[in-house]
Amino acid sequence: MNIILLGAPGAGKGTQATRIEENYGLTHISTGDIFRRHMRRQTEIGEEARSYIKKGLLVPDEVTLKIVKSALDEVHGKNFMLDGFPRNLNQAQQLDGIAKIDKVIDIRVDFDILTDRICGRRSCLDCGYTTHISVLGGANTCPKCGCEMTQRVDDREETVRSRLQVYATQTASLVEYYEKQGKLFTVDGMGTPDEVFAEIKKVLG
Ligand code: ADP
Ligand code: ZN
Repeated sequence: MNIILLGAPGAGKGTQATRIEENYGLTHISTGDIFRRHMRRQTEIGEEARSYIKKGLLVPDEVTLKIVKSALDEVHGKNFMLDGFPRNLNQAQQLDGIAKIDKVIDIRVDFDILTDRICGRRSCLDCGYTTHISVLGGANTCPKCGCEMTQRVDDREETVRSRLQVYATQTASLVEYYEKQGKLFTVDGMGTPDEVFAEIKKVLG
């Protein structure tokens, strides 16, 4: 089974992806993580992506599709979970041409709490673990690997606004796209991570 995690920035896709990967063995493909890896290594793709990511805009489709295709090649037929892709109609249509998707899980969170979630988010640049500043309680080391937890450049308030706008204008319509294909499952993302995961388990069986 191959799945897509949909949902606005801050809806909790990354948090749930970790649990799904552990429990269902699906290979996690996060376009955001791939871009951040490229940025850290200062590759050509990373430098191009950075200029868009810093502004909260989508990286151009041809670049994004290139990294997705090579990630899909690398899974070698294993089942996978896409997180952060597709993000617009063109990406969704292109994906339909290269992979078979079974289920799409839309994690729903009220728009007004997303800003607080994202601006309070701290991320480990090393292992990708993310958590909220309120959970860290003053510490800034990653509970998983001990590296430093920092704020992503695009988690600052001015950038968050444009990311939410990009979501509303380009990504939200994918809900309807997958509903028409009969693949859409909606999950309430307002609960604790465990509660949300319990809902996801009902969908994945
Ligand atoms: P979030 O889901 O919290 O917004 P991501 O880590 O998925 O964060 O994405 C961070 C940024 O990376 C996006 O704002 C965008 O600039 C870029 N990006 C990630 N995935 C895509 C994609 N499918 N298409 C274009 N840009 C993308
Ligand atoms: Zn870490």
